[in-house]
Amino acid sequence: MLSRFLILALLTCFVQAVEVRDSRAKMGSPFEITVLAESEAEARHLIEAAFAEIDRLEAMISSWQPQSQTSAINRAAGGDGVVVSQELFNLIRRSLKISQLTDGAFDITFAGVGNLWDLSSGRLPNPMKVKQALALVDYHAVELNPKTREVRLSRPGVRIGFGAIGKGYAANRAIVKIRELGGKSALVNAGGDMVATGVRENGRPWSILIADPRAPDRVFAELALTEQAVVTSGDYERFMIVDGKRYSHIINPKTGYPVDSLQSATVICPDGELADGLATSIFVMGPVAGMDLINRLPRVECILVDAQGRIHYSHNIQSQLIVKENSP
Ligand code: ADP
Ligand code: MG
Repeated sequence: MLSRFLILALLTCFVQAVEVRDSRAKMGSPFEITVLAESEAEARHLIEAAFAEIDRLEAMISSWQPQSQTSAINRAAGGDGVVVSQELFNLIRRSLKISQLTDGAFDITFAGVGNLWDLSSGRLPNPMKVKQALALVDYHAVELNPKTREVRLSRPGVRIGFGAIGKGYAANRAIVKIRELGGKSALVNAGGDMVATGVRENGRPWSILIADPRAPDRVFAELALTEQAVVTSGDYERFMIVDGKRYSHIINPKTGYPVDSLQSATVICPDGELADGLATSIFVMGPVAGMDLINRLPRVECILVDAQGRIHYSHNIQSQLIVKENSP
């Protein structure tokens, strides 16, 4: 009885007054930050700090801003290494670890061939060019020197890009910023990559809706999360259809072509960056190898929708999350 009273008292202390939400376009995607705080001014202050952090990261990892460290690395491909910040060095090192973990399904050098795919053109790239460009896609071409913090791309034309992991990292960092400034409860939506901390008013967890990939306005699952990230990679937001076939923005680095064995891959784990990297990886690996990998990783769960629309859950997901399922 006493302990129950204590928990209630703690929860009551924790309950904050105002929930404020703000949306802005960042990293080429809509971002939305929701913060629970004692006052609106406090919430807005936390949100500003989080967006400032996201701007800082975008200036670091953007491969289309010529002054970013990432662009400097790409310009120097085939030549000397570029000394970068410890932060970018570590992000690249973690990206290469995901490549190793996924046997190259995830590859930040995908851009060598990814650049040939213009989804807005409605046209397929020249198959010969795709084949040639594959020589530029190889994460082993990214050489790291931890002593000097130098990053070198060993062949001219190799490029790196953080499209598959940058938003997850940004979401993590936004949460860290909010926490550092005393915030206790927030939900960051970084272009669909969700990271939550704390609980909402009345102690309710943040809730994340998972869209049906073939009817994105329809929800097929709902997850309740605290101190977790949920990231979905899908073929339903950025894609083109040519001769009745769908081509999405996630490329198999081994073939140079978009993958089609899944409609969506949702990864749930405590780390937004890892969830982002793994969601893209699983999308490339497909339902069998992808599920196998997730089931071997501790504290990482997934929900996959395969090409036929069937849903697959990882082994331990039910014990961690509340899932309301309406099959798509
Ligand atoms: P979204 O950006 O829609 O949230 P993802 O996190 O799955 O989706 O990332 C997809 C982006 O990652 C692509 O737009 C592209 O920039 C990049 N990308 C595509 N294929 C790969 C791959 N095999 N490995 C790493 N990055 C990739
Ligand atoms: Mg991703």
